[in-house]
Amino acid sequence: MQTTAQSCPQPSFFEKNKFTILRNIAYLLVIFLLIIIPVLKIAKIDIARNEAFILGKSVSLAEGLAPVIFALGIFAILVIVLNLVLGRVFCGWICPGGWFAEIQEKFRKIWWNPKSNKGEKISYILFTVITSILFSLLFLNWVTDLRVFFYKTNPSFIPMWLVFLGMTGMFYFELFIGKRWCRVFCPTGIYQKITPYHHLYKPTLVNPDVCTDCRECVKNCPMALDPRRMAYIQDFYKGIAACIECYNCIDSCTKAQSEKCLPTAMGIVKELPPRDQDFISGKSLTKN
Ligand code: SF4
Ligand code: SF4
Repeated sequence: MQTTAQSCPQPSFFEKNKFTILRNIAYLLVIFLLIIIPVLKIAKIDIARNEAFILGKSVSLAEGLAPVIFALGIFAILVIVLNLVLGRVFCGWICPGGWFAEIQEKFRKIWWNPKSNKGEKISYILFTVITSILFSLLFLNWVTDLRVFFYKTNPSFIPMWLVFLGMTGMFYFELFIGKRWCRVFCPTGIYQKITPYHHLYKPTLVNPDVCTDCRECVKNCPMALDPRRMAYIQDFYKGIAACIECYNCIDSCTKAQSEKCLPTAMGIVKELPPRDQDFISGKSLTKN
């Protein structure tokens, strides 16, 4: 055993965390685009000034709306196509709401748990208010010059404040409950569960003999699944329909990380290995 451990190099930091790193890069890229496109006026509607911009050129509001409607159509098609081929990768790799909710969930575990004191709970509320405001501004920047919030004489002043407060309230609810939003309430998530989906790549327990039942994969699944067997279950909340293909389960599996030359417990497969009912129900996960 000692010889094997010595002759097998330990995985690098990237190898141990590759999906977490790649996913965060993908999320940040999407957020960067969501910020930069309206800031550079590549596409932006400015309701407060009654004008719009396409590729930096000022156009009428009506002309500016056309590409927005087009982009929304592309978005709906993209989500369906991704879902049909790869499952809910939109949730796990693209949606900024999912990213914010994931970060929020980490703070929730520290500041809003049964042992949290008053100060920690207040910190969590303040943190949630700030992230909700930032999230609202991220989207409102697409439809208005944000300075409108300081110009009382502008006719959009009151409507924009009402929209801002409504959006921030909704985002506050979303972020306060963390990943539960993605699991239960998100309309895009529900839409993906009820439209046809096919997870071409399925995370699952590929080597039951190696699994030590440490449950690290379970603890780190943002969708509260048991990643070892969820791909065999057809259920909106406990099965493959809920999996967002984040592969946190692969990154967190201690047996995928310990020694490079040993078989890994969790893996990604196209075809699921046959398993009996005891495995699927969780009675004999490590003895199949
Ligand atoms: S089962 Fe794995 S890939 Fe699916 S949501 Fe859970 S951690 Fe992510
Ligand atoms: S699959 Fe990996 S992380 Fe999950 S319980 Fe088994 S050894 Fe632990």
